[in-house]
Amino acid sequence: MEKLYYHLTSVSLDASLEVISPPDRGRGDRRFCQTCFNVLKRDEPIDIRIDALRPRTRHFDVTELWDVNVIHTSLLDLLGREHVERDLLLGTVTNKKGHVVEGWHTVIGRERLILRGNPHFWKGKAMFGAGCCKECGLLHCHGAAPRYLCPGPTSDRVIRQSDTTCLIIPASLKEAINLKRGSGYALEKLPVLESPRDGMPIELSCEPGKRIETTLTG
Ligand SMILES: [Zn+2]
Repeated sequence: MEKLYYHLTSVSLDASLEVISPPDRGRGDRRFCQTCFNVLKRDEPIDIRIDALRPRTRHFDVTELWDVNVIHTSLLDLLGREHVERDLLLGTVTNKKGHVVEGWHTVIGRERLILRGNPHFWKGKAMFGAGCCKECGLLHCHGAAPRYLCPGPTSDRVIRQSDTTCLIIPASLKEAINLKRGSGYALEKLPVLESPRDGMPIELSCEPGKRIETTLTG
């Protein structure tokens, strides 16, 4: 299993990419958790309508709707079509005129991984823990950089989705992506660590509505 991964994130803060359908950030839409807006079904693509003609970036963008990013086919080609078909679900993007935005898809990873990080300290107290959504039971974890994976992935997938909705790729696939300035995406290093630095257990299991507190102190 690889020891180094990269977090493929959008550098865009494109407010014009507000999702107008499903309405109101997925509220009332049963495909999304109504508390944390997590995509509940990872075996169905999500189609969206955006309040713009097209994303402003060239390859990858974050929408206003949690857990749904949009990706351009040119980046999908670099990631490898066989990996994309097996590990990702692609949906349709329609623009404010009601036309399909050619070349763009919504993207959901079939497998979701938690990003671990370091605790934040405030007045000597570690302000960090992991939380479990009281409605859908999904674990949310917001550590400070530098972030890492712990434990490492165990499945035979190549592309996964992080709990911040962006994509996780192995170092071996990074070479395939020729990052150019203005491409709209960035790569954050994610080493696999044997033990976490956040003061929480290596295996994070949670009960809905409960927090997992860090044992670290400032
Ligand atoms: Zn939830």
